[in-house]
Amino acid sequence: MKSIKFKKMVATVAFTNTLQTTIPATALYSVMEEHFLNNKTGKIPKLLFIGYDGCIANALTTRTNIDESAIFTLAKSGGLYLGKTGGAKKGGQETSTAPGWASLFTGTWATTNGVYHNDDELAKTISPIFYTLEFKQIKSKFCFSWDPHRSVTYKNVAEMAPQIFCQAQDDDGTFDAMKKSIEDDSTQAIFGILEYLDHAGHTFGFSVSKEKYIEALSDSERVASKLIDIVNKRKTLDLEDWLIVITTDHGGVNRGHGGRTIMESTIFFASNKKIFYST
Ligand SMILES: [Zn+2]
Repeated sequence: MKSIKFKKMVATVAFTNTLQTTIPATALYSVMEEHFLNNKTGKIPKLLFIGYDGCIANALTTRTNIDESAIFTLAKSGGLYLGKTGGAKKGGQETSTAPGWASLFTGTWATTNGVYHNDDELAKTISPIFYTLEFKQIKSKFCFSWDPHRSVTYKNVAEMAPQIFCQAQDDDGTFDAMKKSIEDDSTQAIFGILEYLDHAGHTFGFSVSKEKYIEALSDSERVASKLIDIVNKRKTLDLEDWLIVITTDHGGVNRGHGGRTIMESTIFFASNKKIFYST
């Protein structure tokens, strides 16, 4: 029942693709890397990556005023795509926070990067996008409040390049760190993850019928809209080529996630540019 309802709701949002043609979480890495390493605009490439931790894809159907939605603002000029996580094969890795972000940040599944669960460290041979860029003298920041990003998954990277990591107490702190990084002329790539939705999902349920969960989506959207505004107000905006992406690490069902259901493994990508093409 749940799955049928989910499919019907997802179909009502203007996604570029369908649940049959979902884009793997691993596909975003090369889009971000190409934006910097193969940018032909003649402008300074910049990136704003906003993660809504634990956002179920059908929650997007609750955005009635799309002018106030950061996701739909981006989609208007770019695209909105359905994606999938959880491994190349269903159940290949948990639909949990560390594996979800690791696939987005490295372009690989756990079979390659080693992050099957939240307590797994990233394989030392694998570079997350913020380290790839930083290593190429493209100043990058990763802002978050979930401690295991630094203490577990990217522990090794944080030891090699601590300047990338901005750990905050909560989402307000993450916003402040991201704002500062956007306003800093020399920072080119800003990654940030907001925890509103994951917290609400674990407490009240990952469901469009849970008011608190939908409020958490509104909170995430408000913060993302503010961040996009800060980009748009940059004095040197005309000289810069911004790629802005909003995505999520996993969905959820009842008050949890980690399994292989369609509600947990379906994700989305919103972008101010057309970043994926249907074949
Ligand atoms: Zn998560």
